[in-house]
Amino acid sequence: MKNNLICVLIGAPGAGKGTQAKNVANHFKCKLISTGDILRENVENKTVLGLEAKKYIDNGNLAPAQIVVSMIKNVIKSSIEKKDASDNNFLFDGFPRDLEQNKLFEQILAQLNLSIKAVIYINIEDDVVYERLTNRRVCPKCNRVYHLKFNPPKFDNLCDDCKVALITREDDKIDVIKKRLEVYKQLTEPLIEYYRKKNKVIEINGNKDAEEVLKDIISGINCAKQ
Ligand code: ADP
Ligand code: ADP
Ligand code: ZN
Repeated sequence: MKNNLICVLIGAPGAGKGTQAKNVANHFKCKLISTGDILRENVENKTVLGLEAKKYIDNGNLAPAQIVVSMIKNVIKSSIEKKDASDNNFLFDGFPRDLEQNKLFEQILAQLNLSIKAVIYINIEDDVVYERLTNRRVCPKCNRVYHLKFNPPKFDNLCDDCKVALITREDDKIDVIKKRLEVYKQLTEPLIEYYRKKNKVIEINGNKDAEEVLKDIISGINCAKQ
């Protein structure tokens, strides 16, 4: 196996995966792959994949594994071909999402002689999920995440970086949030148990301030690298 870094971010909706992902990826020089962001871009651009995935996203269900995994496979392969990911380091946000995706993912990695180094599990209380997601706003251009109370933009409703108007995600409505949380518990949590048995889980208390959470993730990954 090569000495590369492949990490996965797992956590309930609103745990802070997207918030942390960019900083963690920059810190460790990983290519960031967020399935949620890629799927939403496809929905926005009305691609065949986006039109198919939208039905699932709008209801809070997972998009079919075949779609997501083949999408991921293409992104990984083209990143490696284009030498877009230094040393083939990758950070996955929101993928794999269940055991079925994970099995296919492990096969893809094995074919490329790669393997997962650490699974970063950001743990938050259920109550926090609703407060986080109903106040979440995102930049449609750069995907930067804001929170109306905890992390507001400098100017009212504009992305600090792009100066584009922020949007509320279609699936950040109470009933869809509830469904996503159920799906997370039923389908995604078993993955945490799977990786715990392999001693790959770094559990992070996601209730702390975002800066603290970032420090904890960085020190956790540094330990796993040794
Ligand atoms: P996820 O990608 O896991 O769904 P996000 O990173 O989008 O979660 O965060 C959900 C919401 O919570 C956003 O509005 C974000 O600004 C906010 N948030 C993220 N981390 C924290 C934190 N540690 N403390 C307070 N709010 C946070
Ligand atoms: P959050 O972490 O807040 O739940 P994501 O952006 O990761 O948000 O996911 C939003 C939606 O996109 C999910 O509810 C699901 O419909 C779809 N999605 C994202 N990643 C995956 C994936 N790996 N497999 C299937 N569906 C996915
Ligand atoms: Zn932006």
